Amino acid sequence: MSKNRKSPIKDIDEKELWVRHPKDYAVGIPGIAVSLKRTVASMGPLRAARSLLKLNQVDGFDCQGCAWPDPAPEHRKSAEFCENGAKAVAEEATTRHVPPEFFATHSIQELERHTDFWLGHQGRLVHPVVRRRDATHYEPISWDDAFALIGTTLRGLDSPGEAIFYTSGKTSNEAAYAYQLFARQFGTNNLPDCSNMCHESTSVALAEAIGIGKGSVQLQDIYDADLIVISGQNPGTNHPRMLTALEVAKKNGAKILAINPLPEAGLLKFDNPQTVRGLSGVGTHLADLHLPVRINGDLALWQAFGLLLLEEDERRGGGVLDRDFIVQHTSGFDDWAKEIRTLDWGLVERATGLDRAEIARGARMLIDSGATVHCWAMGITQHRNAVATIKEFTNVALLQGNIGRPGAGLCPVRGHSNVQGDRTMGIWEKVPKHFLDALQQEYGFEPPQENGLDTVDSIRALRDGTAKVFVGMGGNFVSAAPDTVVTEKAMQNAELTVMVSTKLNRSHVRCGHSALILPALGRSERDRTGGIDQRVTVEDSMSAVHASRGPLEPASEHLRSEVDIIASMAQATLGHDTSVPWSDYRADYTNVRRAISHVVPGCASYDEKVDRPGGFVLPHPPRDSREFPTKTGKAIFTPSPLAVIDVPEGRLLLQSLRSHDQFNTTIYGLDDRYRGISRGRRVVFVHRDDITALGFENGDMVDLVSEWDDGTERSAPSFRIVEYDTPRGCAAAYYPEANPLVPLDSTARGSNCPTSKSVVIRLEPPSGDDATSEGGGAPIGSDLGHKSDVAPEHLS
Ligand code: SF4
Repeated sequence: MSKNRKSPIKDIDEKELWVRHPKDYAVGIPGIAVSLKRTVASMGPLRAARSLLKLNQVDGFDCQGCAWPDPAPEHRKSAEFCENGAKAVAEEATTRHVPPEFFATHSIQELERHTDFWLGHQGRLVHPVVRRRDATHYEPISWDDAFALIGTTLRGLDSPGEAIFYTSGKTSNEAAYAYQLFARQFGTNNLPDCSNMCHESTSVALAEAIGIGKGSVQLQDIYDADLIVISGQNPGTNHPRMLTALEVAKKNGAKILAINPLPEAGLLKFDNPQTVRGLSGVGTHLADLHLPVRINGDLALWQAFGLLLLEEDERRGGGVLDRDFIVQHTSGFDDWAKEIRTLDWGLVERATGLDRAEIARGARMLIDSGATVHCWAMGITQHRNAVATIKEFTNVALLQGNIGRPGAGLCPVRGHSNVQGDRTMGIWEKVPKHFLDALQQEYGFEPPQENGLDTVDSIRALRDGTAKVFVGMGGNFVSAAPDTVVTEKAMQNAELTVMVSTKLNRSHVRCGHSALILPALGRSERDRTGGIDQRVTVEDSMSAVHASRGPLEPASEHLRSEVDIIASMAQATLGHDTSVPWSDYRADYTNVRRAISHVVPGCASYDEKVDRPGGFVLPHPPRDSREFPTKTGKAIFTPSPLAVIDVPEGRLLLQSLRSHDQFNTTIYGLDDRYRGISRGRRVVFVHRDDITALGFENGDMVDLVSEWDDGTERSAPSFRIVEYDTPRGCAAAYYPEANPLVPLDSTARGSNCPTSKSVVIRLEPPSGDDATSEGGGAPIGSDLGHKSDVAPEHLS
């Protein structure tokens, strides 16, 4: 066994679950303590210091975590990262490795029994490995043989449409551009991405309403806003540096309206660890008003806000709505206004769980604001009515002219560091024709014109055998996707799965008949492909593009960069039948950037512009000049029908969410500090009165059973009930544990995004004989009242 193998990692034992009181503030000293402890334990002090001091710096590398933007270069501090950014670096730059011998001693069947937490904590993948057809184990393979296997298999397909090229949102712009180019020259637009599972509803709604599927604000707008509305978003865990921006905004006089079922710590108070006030626990109070909306009630709430603004404008004889903006820059106002006047307040109160007075308080904040920024995330996008809800935010923003002026705008907050950049680079199963035309002009081949498969349709195609090869550029597709049982079987149906990865995950063990794991350089590592120091570029959630260059020595000499891997796959597949200079692209990524500047809209002189300190911002017509490239040439008001999910008696509406110790499917640890949960993950948060009404007690073990319109049921076993401050009738559980409850066919109308945030469930006494269902764990609640901020670490 390699000298890099350290003490064995213990898998999760749910019987060790601890529950404490949730926190009412975010970060503070515990945030620093956890950041330092995790990075030093994982990487050693020198490596930790070297990487953290370069994280999010102008001459450093971009955080692998979320897509929150960096401040202007002159305002960056020497520690420009959050607790979760530090955890992301620790995860990638760990000195723990998975050598080829690991796979000789662990069969695929044995690995399947472990959680994603255990798999990820085995360390960095350091050598390519292959599962020969239906073999029980992975074994080492050379890079050349791996590429030859990919090329032979792809060329042997009956049609290019039998291959799927998935991208996770960490892939750099250069790699994303090369990847879509490879797929399209091979002959398919089957380019699903993680965006299909998160902000696709945003992209669809905004593209239709304002003409571009991206947010319209810059960081400065947050600082300058009068009001910031945060809907369905938990910035303290998912975009922690947003708290710093919110603190600046508050100091500048902004108010914050938080709309979320749970009173998340990061919506309530921020103890900034970089200030004396924050360290002493004084901190900044964030939300001036928290509306605990019932799950899926946002569409009703925003329709009510729209109506109240309209009525107040009429009552005052003007001054609430921006009539000039509406006349000059929008269409559809009259139809929308006519429709909204028919709003049924009874329905609104049922949908939102809020009374009219509470809603009026929120509307008053909008009315009093001269410039409002609307932020949202997955709490909004993963519902059946998500596209309509986002159009409703947009309607309200348009009413007040809150697009294209300082301190105002639409701010979808993206979850993965380059998910927006990947889409800009053409990772899109429905890419516009002008992009395909530009590819044809640049390379002289005819790209496929028909739309490709998105994530949900890719799973269907694998399940049905109409797709046979799955290539994953990063990510953990199996754990990210809904309907886990169906997704796993679909993946296992593939002839070949190819995963370009840094760490072991479930997609490697629920794999195709043949499977490859190709270990890639991480973003924190030096990339010397072609014998020169390479850099890559990324785009943040606010359309700013900048360079990233890792400082650390790679975990192994066998690692290759994503660009190198893609160019090699393309050459092995396309042979001489390619007009793309793949060797040049691999030798110097500047050549990729030159091509990007010719093909990708808004990227002229790309390589020169990313050389500027802090990079450059991509054009956004509504933000820059109040031009709206929609079908009417103006921003469009859209009326939407209001329907309420009526949850039957004895049932709850469940949303999935992340713990504070995870990023997407990566489970960093077992400490959801803000919600008071540690050492376990299979919990379901339920209101105290619902627990009693359903005949259970706090701490009981239950199975979660989801019920769907088509009469099907799905089950996820062995969750412990945790009493929590959530609206009556609502519940929450972590994902991916809750993913098996969401059917593949339950998707948002218009975006096909899985509906992980509105799942009707019932709680049942546990049916299995799993040890965790015996109720033999530490008595839940026994630690309530414990004053310690940091739970005992699961990992030593
Ligand atoms: S806020 Fe997001 S991008 Fe910034 S350091 Fe934290 S995880 Fe990384």
